[in-house]
Amino acid sequence: MNPVSTLKAKLPTPLRRLADLAYNYWWSWTEERVSLFSIIDPSIWQSCRHNPVALLEAVSEERLWQVAEDPFYLNRLNHLAQKFDHYMGERDTWAARVAPDITAENPVAHFCMEYGLHESLPIYCGGLGVLAGDHLKSASDLGLPTVGVGLLYRQGYFRQRLNRSGWQQNFYEDNDFEHMPLELVRDEFGQPVTVKVKVRQRIVRIQVWKAQVGRAQLFLLDTDRSDNDPLDRRLTRQLYSGNRETSLAQEIVLGIGGVRMLHTLEVEPAHYHINEGHAAFALLEAARLEIAYSGDNFYEVEELIRDRSTFTSHTPVPSGLDSFSADMMDSFFAEYWPELGLSREQFLALGARRPGDPWELFGMTVLALRMTRTANGVSRKHGEVSREIWQVLYPDKDAAQVPIQYVTNGVHARTWTAPLMSDLYSRYLGEDWSSKLVDPTLWQRVEQIPDGELWRRHAILKERLVAYARAKVLRSRRGRGEAADDIAAVDRLLDPNVLTIGFARRFSPYKRGGLLFHDLHRAIRILSNPKRPIQLIYAGKAHPADEEGKRIIQRLMEWCRHPALRDRIAFIEDYDIYTTKLMVQGVDVWLNTPRRPLEACGTSGQKVAFNGGLNLSVLDGWWCEAYQEANNRGLNGWAIGEDVGTSDQQHQNQVDADSLYRLLEDQIAPLYYDRDRNGISRGWLTMMKTSIRTNCHQFNSDRMVAEYVTQLYLNEPQAEVEPVMASAMA
Ligand SMILES: *Cc1c(COP(=O)(O)O)cnc(C)c1O
Repeated sequence: MNPVSTLKAKLPTPLRRLADLAYNYWWSWTEERVSLFSIIDPSIWQSCRHNPVALLEAVSEERLWQVAEDPFYLNRLNHLAQKFDHYMGERDTWAARVAPDITAENPVAHFCMEYGLHESLPIYCGGLGVLAGDHLKSASDLGLPTVGVGLLYRQGYFRQRLNRSGWQQNFYEDNDFEHMPLELVRDEFGQPVTVKVKVRQRIVRIQVWKAQVGRAQLFLLDTDRSDNDPLDRRLTRQLYSGNRETSLAQEIVLGIGGVRMLHTLEVEPAHYHINEGHAAFALLEAARLEIAYSGDNFYEVEELIRDRSTFTSHTPVPSGLDSFSADMMDSFFAEYWPELGLSREQFLALGARRPGDPWELFGMTVLALRMTRTANGVSRKHGEVSREIWQVLYPDKDAAQVPIQYVTNGVHARTWTAPLMSDLYSRYLGEDWSSKLVDPTLWQRVEQIPDGELWRRHAILKERLVAYARAKVLRSRRGRGEAADDIAAVDRLLDPNVLTIGFARRFSPYKRGGLLFHDLHRAIRILSNPKRPIQLIYAGKAHPADEEGKRIIQRLMEWCRHPALRDRIAFIEDYDIYTTKLMVQGVDVWLNTPRRPLEACGTSGQKVAFNGGLNLSVLDGWWCEAYQEANNRGLNGWAIGEDVGTSDQQHQNQVDADSLYRLLEDQIAPLYYDRDRNGISRGWLTMMKTSIRTNCHQFNSDRMVAEYVTQLYLNEPQAEVEPVMASAMA
C-alpha cells in the first residue's frame, strides 16, 4: 500500500481526503492553508514544523473524530478537496498551449542540489533552494510538466543556536522520512527502485523518494541504505558540509544517479535544466545513455544533448568551490570517461577554461556552459557580469556576444503573500489576481485599495511578527540559561508602533550583515531617536566553515545586549522558511547591503514587495531592474550608496554606510512618522502602493518560468504571445 492509502485507512471516513492533501505540497500555497491542518491540534502542528503527515499520525483518534463530526469543518474540507481535484485534473493550461511537446512522459527535468518547498522538508540552505522550490510551484501552476531531481538529506543543513557569547553553534537533527510527505518509489514487486553509481571504487545503491508539488514531482535521491558501505550511506546526510571530495561524490549522485533514476523510471526528459553547476554531471550521463542507445560517438551525441539543455548560473565570481582538481577527477572518473569513448585529456578538457593546461581545474560551470545550448544569469546585471567572466571560453567573441542570457529570478506569490494581503488583492484587483500576476494593468488597481485598510492590515502583520520575534528570543534566552532580568526584558523587546527594518538571509560576508553598525554611535543615535525610533529584526546562518560570517553574527548579538539598543534589536535564531514568511510579511522596510556585484539576484526583497514592505537596498542584482526614482528620491524604495569602483572595501563600506544613515535620517524615518489625523502616513502608503504596482508583475516566478519556457527551453521563437496564466486558486 502506498503511504497515502495507509494514512487514509487510519483516518475517520469523513476525513480521508485530508490524506490526499497532506501528501501534496499544493496545500501549502492555497488560501485555506492556515486552518485545515492546524485547527486539528495547533500545538502538535507547531511542534511537528507544520508537517501534515506527522500531525495526522500524532493526533489522537478522539480528536480526529471530534473534527470528523463538525459539519463546518467537513464543508471546508470537501470544498478544498474539490479545488484540489480540479487543479490536478486540469488539462487546458498555459504550458499545454505554448509547449505542447513537453508532456508527462517527456517533461522538463530540473536538477538542483537543494530544494526549499516548505519548512517541513528541511533540505535547503538558502536562496538557491527556495528559488528551486518556487520554480517547481510555478511550473505546476502553469501546467508545465516538470520533474525536479535533488538529494534527500537525512540531516539537511545545520540548525543554529547561539551560545552566551553570541557564537554560532551547529547541531543536526535526523529527518524521519517515513513520517514526512514523501513516498519511497517502489517497483511492481514492492521493492524500492534503485540505481547504482560507482564512487571511490565502490558501488553505491541509490533509492528515491517522491514529493508531490502540485502537478510537479520532486524526486529525491537517498543513499542511506543498509546495503551500502557506511561511508557511502553518509553521502546524502548533510547539505554543503563536507570537504571537496564529499561534494564531488554528492554531485555524482545528483547528476549521474539522477539521470539514471529518471531512465529507470522511464521518464525521458524533453529538456534538462541544470540549476547551478553542482548538477552538471547530469549532462555527461545523458550523453552516455545516448551513446549506449545510438552507438554514435560523444561529439555527435553532445550536439543532441546541448539542444535539449539549459544551464542557469547563480555565481557572480569564478570560485574555487565550483571546480575539482585533476587528481580528484582521476580518482572518481577514470572508469567513466572510457564509457563516453573519451580519453583522459578529452574528458578533462570538458571542464577546463584553458584546455591543455596540466594544472587546470575541472570547472562545473565550464562543463555546463560547454554542454548546454542556452545558458543564463539570474538578473540583467548578473547576465552582464557572467558574460564578462566566461568570455574566456569564447575567445572569438566580445563579452557582449557571449551566449549567456538572463532570466531574472522571481518568487512564488501564492506562497509568500500573507493571506491578509491576498484577501485585499482578491477584493480590489479581482478574484483571479493570482493567476494573472504578470499583467501590469491588474496591479494598477492597487491604487483603489483604501489607505486605511492597507495600513491596518500591514499593522496586524507587523504585530504578529513582533509577537513571533519575542517568543523566539524568549526561548533562546531561556535555552542559554540567561539571567532572570534578561529573560523578563523580552517583554520590552520591540514595539509594533515603531518603524521596523528586517534583514534575514545567509550571513555570507559579502552580504555585509553588520553594515548598519559601521559607525556604532551614529547607528545608536538614529535608532534611539525619541521622536522617530527605528527597530531591527535579524535572522540568518553563517556557513559552518565561515568564521567571518560567525563574527558578524556575534557582533550583532553584542549590539542586541547594548544598553542603548537592547529593546530595539532582535536576532531570531535558526532561520528557516517559516521565519522568512513572517519577516517578509511583517516588516516596514527590508534591508539588503551586498558588496557589488556579488548579489546575483536576491529574492527575499521580492517577497517583501508582495506584502507591501519597502526595499532599502544597494543597487545590485534584481534591485537594479526594479528601483525607480524621480528627482533623486526613490519612488518604490531606496537605493543605498554608489559603486565607487575601487577594490578598497573599507572605503566602499564607508560610502554605503554613510548613505544608509542619511537615507534613514533624512527620508525614511521622517516619511514613516509623518502622520495625518488618522495616524496614517499618506506618503508612506503612496510608496507602498507604488512598490506593489511596479514590482509584483515582474518579480514573480510565473513570469520567470514562462521566460524559461519561451526563451530557453523551446527551440523555435514563439510566433504568438500567449498571455501567461496560472491555474486559478480562488
Ligand atoms: C528567500 C530566501 C532566501 C533568499 O534571500 P536573499 O536575500 O535573496 O539572499 C534565503 N533563505 C530563505 C529561507 C529564503 O526564504
